Amino acid sequence: MLELQPIFPNLSDQESLVIAGPCSAETREQTLATARELADYGIKIFRAGIWKPRTKPGGFEGVGAPALEWLKEVKETTGMLTSCEVATRAHVEQALEAGVDMLWIGARTSANPFAMQEIADTLKDSGKDVPVMVKNPVNPDLELWVGAVQRLYNAGIRRLGVIHRGFSVYGKHLYRNVPQWHIPIEMRLRFPNMPIVVDPSHIGGKRELIAPLSQQALDMGFNGLIIESHCDPDHAWSDAAQQLTPEVLNFILHTLVIRDEKETTENLSLLRQQIDRIDNELLETLARRMEVSREIGRYKKLHRMPVVQATRYNDVIATRVNAGKEMQMDPEFLKTILLAIHDESVRQQIEIINDRKS
Ligand code: PEP
Ligand code: MN
Repeated sequence: MLELQPIFPNLSDQESLVIAGPCSAETREQTLATARELADYGIKIFRAGIWKPRTKPGGFEGVGAPALEWLKEVKETTGMLTSCEVATRAHVEQALEAGVDMLWIGARTSANPFAMQEIADTLKDSGKDVPVMVKNPVNPDLELWVGAVQRLYNAGIRRLGVIHRGFSVYGKHLYRNVPQWHIPIEMRLRFPNMPIVVDPSHIGGKRELIAPLSQQALDMGFNGLIIESHCDPDHAWSDAAQQLTPEVLNFILHTLVIRDEKETTENLSLLRQQIDRIDNELLETLARRMEVSREIGRYKKLHRMPVVQATRYNDVIATRVNAGKEMQMDPEFLKTILLAIHDESVRQQIEIINDRKS
């Protein structure tokens, strides 16, 4: 169990629920205009990238240290707390010197133990007590993420949290970075008292996904949201497709339902008992299916038939997916399940054919 302190002890849970601001600080005007609007809508923590890690050279790589002056101005004129990404010793030193209130570590940096150790050492050397939030590494590696957190903890950082921003995968997907929710859930189980903030902007990669992902994050009991917001999103110099105007952000925030985790009603536990029972039935049904499958394996062995017959397999998938659609289940979901069941049946039949089991 990590001994942690609240990220911002002076803010209420509601005030620290949302961190918002542009992907990048581009100009003084854009930074201040966005900040002023967000502050008017009650946002208390401002984000802006100053040093931008870009996949390829030639993109906008951030304004760098001069933008720290704009963050100072944001703080002075709006009273918001400020935050930016740091990736090197120099970034940490300059951000601390400029009085940035919170630092976050980007996904490309948390994947790099050398960079993480350099940041941890710099924070320790500074002797300053600053909150730090660690984004998950770009690759779905929980241990690497935990390692990044531990380096900071070992350097004495106690106001420590993580940001779930999804994981990159090859090819085109609905999400820019697939959420793989089981990974932040596993993080929650390892460190139950560590805040987990969700970044729907980088998970979704497009505006339409911000609202549903935010609601999902809250429904799953995560502690907050970090959302990219820009005064003129279409002309943003980075991540234009996923940024929202402060007005739209405010609208979305008002549609979100914040559920009370502590409220477990009697009805809910009755419903959970039902789920437990249904799961047991599912397991028994699956076991029966496997038993029939093994019987088929013995038959195929006796008649020297191959284990997999492609036409039969396609029929099985198609009929089940169609039936499932009628029952309000997503075809992709059903395909995944049926494929997994089929794989296990084949594995069991091959065992029989190889005579290891009968
Ligand atoms: C960002 O927050 O703008 C950013 C670069 O995010 P990530 O490190 O998650 O890609
Ligand atoms: Mn961004």
